[in-house]
Amino acid sequence: MSDLMREAASLDAADPLRSVRDRFVLDDAVYLDGNSLGALPAGVPGRVADVVEREWGRLRIRSWGESGWWTAPERIGDRIAPLVGAAPGQIVVGDSTSVNVFKAVVAAVRMSGGRDEVLVDGTTFPTDGYIAESAARMTGATLRAVPPSEIASAAGPRTAAALVNHVDYKTGRLNDLPSITAALHSAGALAVWDLCHSAGALPVGLDSYGVDLAVGCTYKYLNGGPGAPAYVYIRKSLQSAFDSPLPGWNGHAEPFGMRASFEAADGAVRGRVGTPDILSMLALEAALEVWDGVEIAAVRAKSLALTDFFLRCVSAFVPAGVVSSLTPFEHAERGSQVALRCADAGKVMAELIGRGVIGDFREPDVLRFGFTPLYTSFEDACTAARVLGSVLGQEGFR
Ligand SMILES: *Cc1c(COP(=O)(O)O)cnc(C)c1O
Repeated sequence: MSDLMREAASLDAADPLRSVRDRFVLDDAVYLDGNSLGALPAGVPGRVADVVEREWGRLRIRSWGESGWWTAPERIGDRIAPLVGAAPGQIVVGDSTSVNVFKAVVAAVRMSGGRDEVLVDGTTFPTDGYIAESAARMTGATLRAVPPSEIASAAGPRTAAALVNHVDYKTGRLNDLPSITAALHSAGALAVWDLCHSAGALPVGLDSYGVDLAVGCTYKYLNGGPGAPAYVYIRKSLQSAFDSPLPGWNGHAEPFGMRASFEAADGAVRGRVGTPDILSMLALEAALEVWDGVEIAAVRAKSLALTDFFLRCVSAFVPAGVVSSLTPFEHAERGSQVALRCADAGKVMAELIGRGVIGDFREPDVLRFGFTPLYTSFEDACTAARVLGSVLGQEGFR
């Protein structure tokens, strides 16, 4: 056994989150793609079967009330809230991240008192940029793409809001939420954060940093399952001014009043649109049980230790100069993934997957490895680097 493998074993033995891995369905593969689709929590299949067979099959329509279906979006929002540093009553679950980006950006411009510019993170995950462009066009605003490091200085008297990714999906760079939010506020603009790659991986502090609006998906580090519903956070003090561009009947003050005109419900509930997708929503609720007794600070500490250790193992196993890290070495700038630039990255990832190391490939030359502290072990990190070294040492890859 190599020294690094021995070190991995002792880091695993000392890991306070070690036993949380047993709350997931895993196999012998080294699964480093939880930043794309989190692994299945062991409690989900039984709960989904119960929802289908008993709640739907036997209780049928009664379940809207008796099984708590109708209030699931805000109840599950409150379950996510502590993971992103939000007090209850500010998050509703539903729709995709793309749809929630639309609600948030349009609502932000509508709340801005006539400002007509929207800034968007120039390195954003594409859907956020596409939607922000349409939201800006619809509200008569101009969209300006700016690198995240320049958003603070780019915001001016015309800026209604900026939409920024907390962690970059490709490089794993963590953007400085507290200082960018503060700078936007001093320019009189709203801060809209996309938490897709940070929620469940690191502390976010929505309330303490005064974030205005936020969105995120639940199928990455929150392990909610493929296509699990996303969420929108609406800061308490903005809720009465939040004017949704998708005022569906679920966001009505009296949904069963069946009124001809829309009157928004109080609170974050006004972010709801139509009938919630109960099966995936309740799968998500069951998935969130893996967080019982888990502190997000412990998750962050392990995430940084895992990514540090993986980077050390990569330097030990991969010949110098063959890969370079796009992910910052500074902890303050790192999310919970490592992105390595590598020639023939698509072929290299296919070979890794064939050998049981599951990461993913992003165009044009990026290998992504996601570290989910709830179930990724230090041994996983070491094995992945060792297999990567052996693939890259092979004929045809150098
Ligand atoms: C994963 C991800 C999305 C996904 O959007 P959907 O509408 O849920 O498909 C959006 N934005 C970012 C930043 C992401 O990482």
